[in-house]
Amino acid sequence: MILPPASTIGIVGGGQLGRMLAVAASRLGYRVHIFAPDAYSPAAEVAAAFTRAAYDDADALRIFAEGVDVATYEFENIPVATLETLEQHVPLHPSPHAIAVAQDRLAEKTFVAGLGVRVAPWAPVDDRAMLTTAIAQVGTPAILKTRRFGYDGKGQGRIAVPADADAAWDAIGERPAVLEGHVAFDREFSVLLCRGIDGGVVTWDTPDNVHVDGILAKSTVPATGIVAVQAAEATAIATRIATALDYVGTLACEFFAAPDGPVFNEMAPRVHNSGHWTIEGARTSQFENHIRAVCGLPLGGTDTLYPRVEMQNLIGDQAHAWLDILSDPAAHLHLYGKAEARPGRKMGHVTRLLE
Ligand code: AMP
Repeated sequence: MILPPASTIGIVGGGQLGRMLAVAASRLGYRVHIFAPDAYSPAAEVAAAFTRAAYDDADALRIFAEGVDVATYEFENIPVATLETLEQHVPLHPSPHAIAVAQDRLAEKTFVAGLGVRVAPWAPVDDRAMLTTAIAQVGTPAILKTRRFGYDGKGQGRIAVPADADAAWDAIGERPAVLEGHVAFDREFSVLLCRGIDGGVVTWDTPDNVHVDGILAKSTVPATGIVAVQAAEATAIATRIATALDYVGTLACEFFAAPDGPVFNEMAPRVHNSGHWTIEGARTSQFENHIRAVCGLPLGGTDTLYPRVEMQNLIGDQAHAWLDILSDPAAHLHLYGKAEARPGRKMGHVTRLLE
């Protein structure tokens, strides 16, 4: 199915990823309708229509679905049932199956390891007794991660020695979890790809990512050193994952660059913060190619257009430097329109195109 321009794309989720998707869609002549429960939505501010309703509001979902020609999502913690309801009324990409796998660390690990991909040693933890067994199996140091609703390092407890188990179990709120062995990695990086409705896959250059306090701080292309060495293998792994999911749209897979090869960490079934550099730095951005994919259009070229591209997140009050950033001729400033610069909140980003 090719969706002609002037059609309406429904986006579930109302954050900055939806905002940048809406901008890309509007450039191609599409209308965007946002569905989100939030009173304030960065995406709705740049969209043609906004339905503010809870994700389990079946009537609102049906009316939304009937008013759009295709639907997609920008947030991986949307209930799978919401997307299954939508799918009954309108074509939806990526599929609810992709999000079901990605939003549950246990399902994700099982699926990815089942494809023969290397992941950190891990064991499921449903209760405190299973945590003791898991520590015996996986060893320490280890990280206890909630199965669901973890992001940017939230929902995690570090276990340096077995005696830390109680504190970690408490820290994650005694919820179903996965225990992961600590990976001694040199660097972290991500693979960004987009898979079209016809199964064709395009990939971008692999960004080298630096996290601070569990939140992405900076992505740089081209990657250097060990990340450059492992990029091709990781890209092949991410392509295998996308194909196995029959995925349509932009997918991000995060990896640890361990001394003996890439270790898969997690995937995001959506456009991703480490791909924001593609807006100015690549021939076609992750946002535009996602829109093209869900509309059944040919995907655009993904080559990097500058010798070096750096994307820096503006977290919390870092965004107050907007005037200084604008005086740098190499800088492209993006602000998401959020009024309050709370600590840890992603307020915007700046991309620098360097020679
Ligand atoms: P995650 O939410 O799983 O991406 O974890 C947030 C951050 O914690 C990652 O970006 C890593 O810096 C670190 N981390 C997570 N899992 C591991 C692991 N198994 N070994 C070492 N570091 C980890």
